[in-house]
Amino acid sequence: MTKQDQESVRAHIVRVAQAMDEAGFCPSKSGNVSARTDAGMIITPSGLPYKATTPADLVEIGFDGVVRAGKLRPSSEWPFHAAIYEARPDAKAIVHTHSPKATALACARRGIPAFHYMVAYCGGKDIRCADYATFGTDDLARNAVAGLEGRKAVLLANHGVIALGATLDGAYAIAAEVENLAGQYLALLAAGLEPVVLDDAEMARVGEKFAGYGKVG
Ligand code: 13P
Ligand code: ZN
Repeated sequence: MTKQDQESVRAHIVRVAQAMDEAGFCPSKSGNVSARTDAGMIITPSGLPYKATTPADLVEIGFDGVVRAGKLRPSSEWPFHAAIYEARPDAKAIVHTHSPKATALACARRGIPAFHYMVAYCGGKDIRCADYATFGTDDLARNAVAGLEGRKAVLLANHGVIALGATLDGAYAIAAEVENLAGQYLALLAAGLEPVVLDDAEMARVGEKFAGYGKVG
């Protein structure tokens, strides 16, 4: 990765982090964003408000958590970012949010079934809710990787959302769609309506259509 590429990735991470903040996906400075590099990843620093974050504040670390460049501490969730990059060659960027509607479902430990075909945009026939573990732990990393199997998004029990993509914009788009779907699903549940769930064959068909669709990251 050239110095110029590094700089453009850093600027892009800051743009995505500020976009998710402005969308209301990160109450109380929650969430984090990373992008894969040759040597590991570049990730947002821990606890720094996104509005005040500059490209130089980002931290470059290996998958072992050792800091290669940066003065601040990396996100406390670097273990799940590292574990996902190691398990998923297709993941080039990761966006973690506490977006309100998806987090509400996650606090009930409810995943999102195929009540809408856009669930397939998130990689499969449903969006799972991964088992609970304390934030920043290897247990949470393991649970997240398991919940992401064959998927681009997962809810984290009593916590939030992880989305991955082939690009930063792709990962952000998935995180935004998870929040959109969670809102629709919650509206159905609040109205006392029983969602009609699309069958596996239909979700596989939709998934194939998305595979050739320009916007999927
Ligand atoms: P960091 O500020 O350390 O990235 O933590 C935010 C978060 O969402 C923890 O799960
Ligand atoms: Zn979090």
